[in-house]
Amino acid sequence: MSRKERLRQEREQLIEEKGIIYLDQVSKEYEKNNVAALDGVTLSIKKGEFVFIVGDNGSGKSTLIRLLLRELTATEGDVYVMGQNLKKLRHRQVPRFRRNLGVVFQDFRLLPERNVFDNVAFAQRIIEVPQKDIRRNVPAILTTVGLAGKYKAKTNQLSGGEQQRVAIARALVNEPAILLADEPTGNLDPKNAWEIMQLLEEINEAGTTVIVVTHNREIVNAFRKRVITMRRGVIISDEEGGEYIDEN
Ligand code: ADP
Ligand code: MG
Repeated sequence: MSRKERLRQEREQLIEEKGIIYLDQVSKEYEKNNVAALDGVTLSIKKGEFVFIVGDNGSGKSTLIRLLLRELTATEGDVYVMGQNLKKLRHRQVPRFRRNLGVVFQDFRLLPERNVFDNVAFAQRIIEVPQKDIRRNVPAILTTVGLAGKYKAKTNQLSGGEQQRVAIARALVNEPAILLADEPTGNLDPKNAWEIMQLLEEINEAGTTVIVVTHNREIVNAFRKRVITMRRGVIISDEEGGEYIDEN
């Protein structure tokens, strides 16, 4: 067996045993800040799960997301994504690693002067997908998110809910195994928030592992998914079919 094949099998085995995401006693301290943003977090998420992460401002939710994206590295402990220990990832391996992850933010982060098609195609051009495949993939994913008719619209002419759909299409067009959403409904009215969350649920049902940071109590309580609650850098509750726990 080749070394490459052996490493692939080791990763597969780790995913099987520990999950597609696995944090082992992870702490993160920012420089200039002597409080731990994450403090000894151990966590395992299985392939295909849908997980809500909730908690007060400053409890460490975004820090967790950024560790998974390898935008940050842990001060202590190990972060494994897709069976890879991110500490051992070399700098030049990071772009390829990130193809495993799609990410969506509260503020959409679209190219404002570009149309919907180009915003989504952009993600494919970066990884040098051939033009003929882009012409097939982008309309397909825009249909999935319910924007098939809007591909020519400039994104700054869309509603918030539509803009978030574009961002989701862009996050998904390269078919990542994991979708991370950091407060995706934070800028949306209740109706659009529901629709976006339902879309994320459909994406999960089609096989993508989905992790959603949110403050939306009604949605969390209605969806009956796994809920991880954080407070001051630690997980204080982790329940299947859980509820939104109040600050107290
Ligand atoms: P949440 O997303 O739950 O609101 P964060 O992960 O953003 O929480 O922040 C956790 C803690 O880390 C907070 O105390 C915050 O002030 C601190 N923090 C976050 N980002 C930085 C940074 N870039 N530099 C210094 N401290 C930070
Ligand atoms: Mg945050």
